[in-house]
Amino acid sequence: MSSPGLKGVTRKMGRLEVTVSVEDHQSHLQLVGYLDGSADLRELVGVVRGRVSIDLEGVTFVNSLGIRSWTRLLRQLKSDGATVILQRCSEAMVMQLNMIRDARAPVESFFCPYACGRCGLRAPLCIEVEPNRPGLARGAAPEAACPTCQSLMTFDEMPERYLVFLLDPPS
Ligand SMILES: [Zn+2]
Repeated sequence: MSSPGLKGVTRKMGRLEVTVSVEDHQSHLQLVGYLDGSADLRELVGVVRGRVSIDLEGVTFVNSLGIRSWTRLLRQLKSDGATVILQRCSEAMVMQLNMIRDARAPVESFFCPYACGRCGLRAPLCIEVEPNRPGLARGAAPEAACPTCQSLMTFDEMPERYLVFLLDPPS
C-alpha cells in the first residue's frame, strides 16, 4: 500500500531506517528496524505533511524510549495539521499501541498472528480494517486460508487483548 510515484529517500536514525516520500499534500514513511532510544524521529517534523501514511511492517522491536519518540512525533504532526494513517502495523507495534493510548492513530491495516488447525503453520497475516470493521468491532478477527494447505487459519491471540487499539481508538 505504498504510494506509487513517490520517490523515497532513506535516512538512518539509530537502528531504524526511515524512507521518506513527500508530494504536495501527502507523505509516506516506511519504518524498518528497531524503534528504540536511538531513533530520533524529531528529524521528520517539518519534513512530512498533509496526509501522512506510515508503513510499520518492518518495525521488529519497540521499547519505551522508542514509543516516547513516536508519541512526540504524532503529537507534533497533529499540531502541524497533518492526518496520520498507520499501515501494515507489525505485531511489535500493535503491542505498543495496545498498551499506550497516546501512541495510537487511525489504523488502515495491521498484522495478526494466525495458526492453521491442520498443518500447524503459524504466520502473521495482514488484515485490512475497513472491510472487516463490523467483525473487528465485535472482537472477531476474519478467517483466512492457510497458504500451505488451504485449510482454515484462525486468530492465534486473544482478540480482546490484541484488538484493544481498534476497540478504543484515539480521539
Ligand atoms: Zn495449513
